[in-house]
Amino acid sequence: MKLSVIGGGLAGCEAAWQAAERGIEVELFEMRPNQTTGAHRTGNLAELVCSNSLGSNLPNRASGLLKAELRQLGSLLIACADASSLPAGGALAVDRERFSNCVEQQLATHPNITIYREEVQAIPNSPAVLATGPLTSPSLSHALQTFTGEDHLFFYDAIAPIVDFESVDLNIAFRGNRYQIGQGDEGDYINCPFDKNGYDAFREALITAHRIPLRKFENEIVTGVDAGKEAYFQGCQPVEVIAEQGEKALAFGPLRPVGLFDPRTGRRPYAVVQLRQDNLAGDLYNLVGFQTNLTFSEQARVFRMIPGLENASFERYGQMHRNAFIAAPKLLNESLAFNQRPGLFVAGQLAGIEGYAGNIASGLIAGINAACYITEKTPVVLPVTTMTGALINYITHADLKDFQPMKAIFGLLPKPGDDKRRSKRERFELYCERALTDLESFKNSRSTGDDRLFPVTG
Ligand SMILES: Cc1cc2nc3c(=O)[nH]c(=O)nc-3n(C[C@H](O)[C@H](O)[C@H](O)COP(=O)(O)OP(=O)(O)OC[C@H]3O[C@@H](n4cnc5c(N)ncnc54)[C@H](O)[C@@H]3O)c2cc1C
Repeated sequence: MKLSVIGGGLAGCEAAWQAAERGIEVELFEMRPNQTTGAHRTGNLAELVCSNSLGSNLPNRASGLLKAELRQLGSLLIACADASSLPAGGALAVDRERFSNCVEQQLATHPNITIYREEVQAIPNSPAVLATGPLTSPSLSHALQTFTGEDHLFFYDAIAPIVDFESVDLNIAFRGNRYQIGQGDEGDYINCPFDKNGYDAFREALITAHRIPLRKFENEIVTGVDAGKEAYFQGCQPVEVIAEQGEKALAFGPLRPVGLFDPRTGRRPYAVVQLRQDNLAGDLYNLVGFQTNLTFSEQARVFRMIPGLENASFERYGQMHRNAFIAAPKLLNESLAFNQRPGLFVAGQLAGIEGYAGNIASGLIAGINAACYITEKTPVVLPVTTMTGALINYITHADLKDFQPMKAIFGLLPKPGDDKRRSKRERFELYCERALTDLESFKNSRSTGDDRLFPVTG
């Protein structure tokens, strides 16, 4: 039985390689150069659409751990990235042409892979990996929407920044829920209270801060110029755009203080920024309603004007751009296959994974699992102590209500029992050691007999 891989980007190329290496005949479909996405510039496979950096390569960083796992799992794209790397301190930056050429050459000469330069417009009925990325073509998006149901395909990213709980000053911010509804002992939200002067200064800084310019195809979506999309976006405008709409637009909008009382003053603050827990471990909080187009350095400067966030450590900055992704927590299982269609897999940004290396990781798992499906083997579900396993676990189990694409961060990994006694650095080192050991054990458990999925090591 053949496997179709749709999309010759980062996830699709890795998926095609992994399945082909396991003896599956693969047909890889890429619509460029005949049809463009609006952001890609070439017809190359595995084009890096923007930055030429795949993020940190350091062994004690989340993104570095992900790459170490991918090397351990035999990723083609990371091998090509290593072979085309450029000096970039602790990051894995590449010569983008050499990187793409390396990937394309390996795929084009693989005896099990045939490459077609054409757009796929319908969801295949035979085994397939969908890896068409954030800029999936309109006709396939439409087919996907029909397949998943209208409410389960999103077209944009509107990510609010996430801060490390330990960096929030609880001598200023306070816990509590609006009108004290559904509140445990302390309250689910952390509230950062503004007085009038602080609010005015914050608003002024917000509206004058530097923004990331939107490209035409993004502007259409974000502003709602694209017919029919306006309603979709009204509840999701960038916070700086809301601020521009009037002096009190924020105080009556995402920063409304109603139902909240500062226990230190006994009064309702002039405005409140709420932080909501973002991960199960409770050490990451997102700024509610703070999707933004400010540059990352401006977010760091302006958002530290929020009372209680003066020393905030940002785990992820906010962003808004066009980004098609499905409601993975509802639609996908841990093998990255649709619950409703077991032989149909999704990988990359379309599955709700953010960042080049994460997209490659999901392609690797989807490719292996498509091969497992065709050869009737148990799918690969990596331990959640590995960064790859934790990312896939997150996208398939996150709360659907606020689901947004996720990248590799340590907050996704389960904490060791005696976590509080360790420094952050010690904790991260322990996470990495544990992940690579658990991954090796997992690989060895799938390296023997008829089940042989990985070469035996160590
Ligand atoms: C403007 C922009 C800038 C970005 N910058 C960064 C960045 O700097 N760093 C980062 O980590 N991430 C960045 N991202 C996210 C980035 O897109 C992903 O990290 C990564 O490229 C996604 O990998 P993917 O394989 O899911 O999709 P892609 O790499 O986009 O691959 C999808 C492929 O599918 C093809 N395709 C689409 N529809 C069809 C169809 N119907 N039939 C056949 N082929 C089709 C496309 O042409 C494309 O080649 C950016 C995204 C955008 C939109």
